[in-house]
Amino acid sequence: MLRIENGRVLTRDPEHPWFDDGAVAIDGESIVCVGRRQDVAAAYPQAEVLDAGGGLIMPALINLHHHIYSALSRGLTIRGYAPKGFGDILEGLWWRLDGCLNNEDNRASALVTAVDCIKNGVTTVFDHHASYGQTEDSLFVLAEALRGAGLRCCLCYETSDRHGPAQAARAIRENAAFIRHCRRQNDPGLQGMMGLHASFTLSPATLEQAVTAAEGAGLHIHVAEGPVDEEDCLAKYGCRVVRRLADCGALSPKTIAVHGVFLDEEEIDLLREHQVIVAHNPESNMGNAVGCPPVMRMMARGVLCGLGTDGYTGDMLESYKAANLIHKLALADCNAAWQEAPQMLFVNNPQIAACFFAPPLGVLRPGAAADVIVLDYHPITPMDAANADAHLLFGVNGRSVQSTVAAGRILMKNRQLTALDEEQIAGQARQQAASLWARINA
Ligand SMILES: [Zn+2]
Repeated sequence: MLRIENGRVLTRDPEHPWFDDGAVAIDGESIVCVGRRQDVAAAYPQAEVLDAGGGLIMPALINLHHHIYSALSRGLTIRGYAPKGFGDILEGLWWRLDGCLNNEDNRASALVTAVDCIKNGVTTVFDHHASYGQTEDSLFVLAEALRGAGLRCCLCYETSDRHGPAQAARAIRENAAFIRHCRRQNDPGLQGMMGLHASFTLSPATLEQAVTAAEGAGLHIHVAEGPVDEEDCLAKYGCRVVRRLADCGALSPKTIAVHGVFLDEEEIDLLREHQVIVAHNPESNMGNAVGCPPVMRMMARGVLCGLGTDGYTGDMLESYKAANLIHKLALADCNAAWQEAPQMLFVNNPQIAACFFAPPLGVLRPGAAADVIVLDYHPITPMDAANADAHLLFGVNGRSVQSTVAAGRILMKNRQLTALDEEQIAGQARQQAASLWARINA
């Protein structure tokens, strides 16, 4: 038993959204009690205590779209790489990188990402992986590292014809093998999806084979991220990307469509009709200079949109800040995204995670997953449930996270990791990155 106490508690439970001096009691992997500190202490006097130090206790965060494979690219210079647009960024940087990645790189990338997630209070990760230098077993390597670190993960491999049809077939096989493995394992913290890069790098045969091989698992695919995706689809198939995906049976309530920058109204309707999940990654869209997706319009029309990082950062609170700003700028509307940005991170991400994982995430109440974080935040203005989203927007970032608990296990306590050797992982990653960079520039 564990008792997290001595802090303000933001529960996200409409019944009891806030306790000024509260506590959360955990038994095994679930929360058993949330309430006033003295009441929880009286009910569970024997529990081990995690002292929040007067900080903020709240549900752990979820990243809806990440790229672990980008972890060893920080500071990388590629000879001759001088991108003039989104296509050059993909080909010159990301495809060059993923073509060189092997399972040793993948293991190092997963471990440093696990450290980063824990330190940012993220306990559930939806990852979109590519390592065409070694496809076989790559998802299993990531799963072993992330599950060993105590994180929940939903993994897939980015199927694409960009390195040729033989590589695409390998990617489908890796996805299918991993999906079957997850079903056999019955591990509540591990899920697989069918990963696809994007319409413009998928032949009709590859797309059809991938949809069949998914065997009902959801698809996780970049959609209309750059103009090339729609232009290619219109030229080759005479329709737009979401129509192409709908026609081949790729859309379902478990499909994650990432970005959607260039969607038109009919495509938004199709996403809503098929109850497709949309993953919004504001920093990535700005960094690639592709534009701002119509997320405000999609949400107004009932499309379920959540928030990811696209590998740009591991800090969901940073992504939250960017989501708050990008729509204000793009729409020249100072009122944009005040509701939608927190809705995506704190409400929709947990709702989306519930399509893949049980018990409930993103809420502190009896029966919910014991995924809890403590932030070193001592507000200088009044704070309660009604204005908590604004406090989180302007008062904290990922580095404010002091302690991280996932499925009842303390993964970080007062900024010290409990299960992972951070220095050793960083040292191995540095060696692996040097080897990878030499291979990329060979
Ligand atoms: Zn992505």
